[in-house]
Parts: sequence; C-alpha cells; structure tokens
Amino acid sequence: MRVRRRRSTWPAAVVTPPPGLHYTGLEKPASWQTCNGCRVIQEASQKLSGEAIILMYHHCARLPPDAAIRGLYVTPRQFAWQMDWLTRRNVRFCTFNDLQGPGNDLPDAATEVPARPRVVVTFDDGLRDVYENAFPVLAERHIPAVVFPVVGDIGKSGVVWNENKDKSPQSLMSEAQIREMAAAGTEFGSHLWEHRNASRLAPAELREQLARSRDELARITGREITSIAYPYGDYSADVVAETARAGYRYAVTTKQGSNRGAPLLELRRYAIKGVSLLHPLRFIRTMRRVLAAASSTA
Ligand SMILES: [Zn+2]
Repeated sequence: MRVRRRRSTWPAAVVTPPPGLHYTGLEKPASWQTCNGCRVIQEASQKLSGEAIILMYHHCARLPPDAAIRGLYVTPRQFAWQMDWLTRRNVRFCTFNDLQGPGNDLPDAATEVPARPRVVVTFDDGLRDVYENAFPVLAERHIPAVVFPVVGDIGKSGVVWNENKDKSPQSLMSEAQIREMAAAGTEFGSHLWEHRNASRLAPAELREQLARSRDELARITGREITSIAYPYGDYSADVVAETARAGYRYAVTTKQGSNRGAPLLELRRYAIKGVSLLHPLRFIRTMRRVLAAASSTA
C-alpha cells in the first residue's frame, strides 16, 4: 500500500516558543502568552549576582566517642574562633533573604570598594546542640545564620534517618527554640518534611514534602519560608523545578565552590569541620583562598 506523505504546513518558527512565553493552543502563533510553567522555569534558572561564601555546618558540640561522621561536628570553641576569624576579615554575614537586597550585592562606590565579602552561615538538620551551643555564639556577636530543620522531626529525640549513613540517634530543636532563634534574627529554611533523597521521591510525594515543610515552618516562625537545603545534597532538574514551583527562591546543595553567577536553586557550600587541632589550619587555608578570590573579582 502506498502511503502518501503529507508535508507539514506547521511553521517551523512555532515549534520553539520565545523565552518566557508558551503557545497556549491551536490559535494563531500571535497568541504566545506568559504561562505559569515558563515563569517557574525562568525563576529556577535565576542566578546570584555577585559572590556569596556559604558555610555548611551540622552539629555544634564536642565530638561524641561514637560519632559515625566526624566531619559533621564543630566544637563550640572552634565555632566561636571561626566566627571571630571571619569577623576580623570584615566579612558581611547575611541570610538568604538579604542576599539579593538592594545595595547588598554590588560594591558601593561611596563607602565600600570593593564590597565586603558576603558569608552565609548554615546549619542542616535543625539539631538541638546548635540551639544550645552555636546560638549563644551567634547571638553574642549579632551574626545572623540559617537553619534547615527536618520539619517533621522538630522537637523529637532519638531520631534515626533510614537513608542516612550515620545511624546514631539525633535530637532536634523544639518549636519554642526555633521561635526564640527566629526572633533573634536566625532565618529558617526547609530540609523537607522527612530526611529523604529528593530525587528518589515520587513527584506527588516531593510536592507534599516541599509544601508541608514550608507551611509548618512558616506557622512556627511567623515568617515566609524562602530557602531549602536538599537532604544529602541530592537533587535533579525535576527537583529544582518542583522546588521553584513550591515558591522557594534559594536552595543549597553539598557541592563545594564559588557562587558567582550560580543558579539560586543550586547554591554551593563549604563544609566546615572543627574538632581536631588540624581543622583551624584547614579553615584558615580554605577561607583565605576563598576570600582572596571573592575580593579579587568583586
Ligand atoms: Zn541533613
């Protein structure tokens, strides 16, 4: 049987919509309109202006003898020393909500040339020892920080996360402790409802974890929640799109490096340790290099 091929009359130009626009139907190509999906994709690809050095911490406590992952600890003494070292370098401590604020991302010709390097101090998991040991250090120095609690586990003790290599039980800060920190200027962001690998969740489950954790944290803190740390640093293009759709504007990973021009939903961090005598030397070496790079291109 002979098959007659019909030549497509569909104009080639219609196949690719202009940036931010979406073809809404079979009407004439003149009906390009903005659509929510495209807006979300645009937001997901927004980049950071300027540089921001983001530090990643977990526990702030003396190293317990049975600690499975030593790198997740900083002692209160070393943490205070690290904050003082950075303060002496005249860095500007920020949270995500004031990263993109007016005048905060570019050098101020009148007063600051070059701009002071911006540093964001973050803590994953919302562990209780951060309230007990890091919060007093931060409060005394008026340093803002960002905490990402596993929202479904707030206030619980003896929590073990199935997908976590570290099977030692964790204790999380309570609602009252979160409220106290938020009132003192700590920003709170999501770490999902459960400590799960985001890329392995079914789309509906991921949407639920993103929305439920955001709403519960907003209820506890009385503030809009705009940031998230992907548990285990695990994410994918689909996770980024869902994160944008859920209204988050900043997301941090566990990748290390510069954030100059980085997508706001894939920000990089420096994992900071502080339990051995070598760690202050490593901290100085890393931070000197990072601060020099930040100011040379400011
Ligand atoms: Zn975590």
